[in-house]
Amino acid sequence: MAKINRNYLKLPGSYLFSTIGKKVREYAAAHPEAEIIRLGIGDVTQPLAPAVIAALHSAVEEMGQADTFRGYAPDLGYEFLRKAIADYDYGRIGCSISPEEIFVSDGAKCDCGNIQEIFDTDSRIAVCDPVYPVYVDSNVMAGRTGEYDADLQRFRDVIYMPCTEENGFAPEFPEEVPDLIYLCFPNNPTGAVITREALQGWVDYANKNGAVILYDAAYEAYISEENVPHSIYECDGAETCAIEFRSFSKTAGFTGLRLGYTVIPMALTLEGVRLHDLWARRHGTKYNGAPYIVQRAGEAIYSPEGRSQITGQIAYYMENAKLIREGLREAGYTASGGVNAPYIWMKTPDGLSSWEFFDFLLENANVVGTPGVGFGPHGEGYFRLTAFGSRENTLRAMERIRHL
Ligand code: PLP
Repeated sequence: MAKINRNYLKLPGSYLFSTIGKKVREYAAAHPEAEIIRLGIGDVTQPLAPAVIAALHSAVEEMGQADTFRGYAPDLGYEFLRKAIADYDYGRIGCSISPEEIFVSDGAKCDCGNIQEIFDTDSRIAVCDPVYPVYVDSNVMAGRTGEYDADLQRFRDVIYMPCTEENGFAPEFPEEVPDLIYLCFPNNPTGAVITREALQGWVDYANKNGAVILYDAAYEAYISEENVPHSIYECDGAETCAIEFRSFSKTAGFTGLRLGYTVIPMALTLEGVRLHDLWARRHGTKYNGAPYIVQRAGEAIYSPEGRSQITGQIAYYMENAKLIREGLREAGYTASGGVNAPYIWMKTPDGLSSWEFFDFLLENANVVGTPGVGFGPHGEGYFRLTAFGSRENTLRAMERIRHL
């Protein structure tokens, strides 16, 4: 008789955003006059840049002609895109990553979720708390996390690294040494960043202990300050201990188009085996590549016009971030993030829990955000707002919050 993968049953309750969706739908049904503003879900709202649209059109034309038609893409992605990535995203900042070390995919979520497959089932994982849920959930499905402890709201065999106001929302080395360390900077949900020195500390720690860092840099394009690393490969020795994930989703509004990539340096080996080769094998077996037209669209963001257009989009969102952060502070709230990331992490007032504040804001300002506790126990007492709304909605939401 067929059996299910029982690890799936360990995944805690309903997904954060479905609970939010349900609450908002119920509130809207009961209050049809309410104009609800959503600053909760982290999806972009600006249309694709003209350079991207032009590249899509021209690639579509190519697909309609026998002599320029393309079928399956090369396993690791088209050379033109991998070269543009290596030159711009890495060469420009002095990191020597070659096109052969880059795997193009349809987004960072799949890569972050699938990468655990190439590691031993007994690997001990460490994650930040609060955290983007994909890292833990994909390891739960693989049977790597032990049982869920509902009282502690955590999996028994996962090492959680608290990210709190006291440590500037940056994790500290855990007592027990992990095998796999998930780091994400600029961070979702806290909007915090890590300094180059602190990241170098993690690279040294991983190299010393034989651990691998899985570095999610999906929000790299939002970095505005000096001394904030754009890539983990800016650190000495990262090529022997780190895998990096990047996404075109928030960089260029590709959440609907789908494009991302993963870097695995040739020098990264475990037990004498190159992780690059394992991931290449996995890619070749389970994945047939991002569409040609989307890879051409991705290439377009590296052209001078493309660059300047997506820089303008990011500046638009970051102006929203500034309005939210400063608006909250003026209204007496404690808020951080929003300088190198599109997320603002605010403390709930008067000791309200994250969900109590969610209800309070929905009912009194008709504004939707994301309860911090949905990202982990140390998110309790916090609330995440995102800069991805329209300017008009952001301004209106802040006006309402100020008048609460
Ligand atoms: N990594 C982090 C930290 C994210 O917040 C997100 C999207 O919300 C992703 C990865 C997913 O990126 P993609 O759209 O490329 O799958």
